[in-house]
Amino acid sequence: MTELAAILKRRIAATGPITLADYMAECLLNPAHGYYATRDPLGAKGDFTTAPEISQMFGELIGLSLAQSWLDQGAPEGLLVEAGPGRGTLMADIWRATKGVPGFHQRMRIVLVEASPVLRGVQAERLTGAPVEWLDHLDQLPEAPVWFVANEFFDALPIRQFQRDGAGWREVVVGLEGEALKPGLSPRAVLAELEHRLADTHDGDLVELCPAARPAMEAVAGRIARHGGAAIIVDYGDWRSKGDTFQAMEDHAFADPFAHPGRADLTAHVDFEGLARYAAPLTASGLTPQGLLLQALGIEGRASRLAQSMHGEALRQHLAAFRRLTDAQEMGTLFKALALAQAGAPLPPGFFPAQAHEAAG
Ligand code: SAH
Repeated sequence: MTELAAILKRRIAATGPITLADYMAECLLNPAHGYYATRDPLGAKGDFTTAPEISQMFGELIGLSLAQSWLDQGAPEGLLVEAGPGRGTLMADIWRATKGVPGFHQRMRIVLVEASPVLRGVQAERLTGAPVEWLDHLDQLPEAPVWFVANEFFDALPIRQFQRDGAGWREVVVGLEGEALKPGLSPRAVLAELEHRLADTHDGDLVELCPAARPAMEAVAGRIARHGGAAIIVDYGDWRSKGDTFQAMEDHAFADPFAHPGRADLTAHVDFEGLARYAAPLTASGLTPQGLLLQALGIEGRASRLAQSMHGEALRQHLAAFRRLTDAQEMGTLFKALALAQAGAPLPPGFFPAQAHEAAG
């Protein structure tokens, strides 16, 4: 049993079952025992890997898309903001790739929003020499034009789950069964925030809400709406959540999310429609599969250029990384990207306007 399991069991025994969001927040961010608070999960002995860790091409192409959006808007003084920067690899690749964009490094400052002290240390090392500041929350962002990026950040935010029961909903809560932490269902309630889901769900269907995504998106979208900028968000998920997507990863394998609280990475698929809604009045792009986005940004040309100076094992790994990022069987379609910009402003390159069904929700 983990130390955090003992703490959670005492709490549940004393005050009753807790929501999945409370459970997830404790498991990921408890200052003493939380998964992110206590380790670097992306390191050599980590539990998972991400697109920027797979190849420098991911950050380079996203960086150039953001830089072009910045040029399109007159190259103002502004902030390059990343939420949940992990090992700082994406930002390091963006910063290197934009070195040749005239004025970009002079007029942009980097702001990283990171909850984990361990990862802040890794980021500081990775970005030595760049103008970097850290914030705890996105709502602390200064009022300025913001070019925002987040990769696998929103999937780490705590979710709540609700099971449809007639015209009401029962919430998934974490309680005790004997000595074990066990999910159960709360009594039925009618919920205004899920009224729009009554039309597309049936009895017994499960839907997820990510309460923390709302203030995060509102903070970013507010800066962009008032001062300009754009956002690129990449994650696994879909336009609209349906079904149980809560999962645990331990040692690169799926695990029981209730077995070792604090020791496994817990995530849920991102509900991109929710993000786009919270970002109103910004315009949202169509939801773009990662493979298509990277192709539109020219990953094939970049991959062959890099391949020219590679041989043997390095070349083999480079080609495998290219496939992993773009192939439909790998990350190419599971991962999606969404861009946001002021209504009327051009979207960053690689993105296209939403189709009618997405815009209408
Ligand atoms: N973007 C990186 C890392 C993804 S892992 C990559 O693609 O490699 C998730 C990141 O979000 C970690 O840096 C984690 O510490 C951070 N994080 C998780 N919850 C957070 C929160 N509520 N506030 C700020 N950062 C958070």
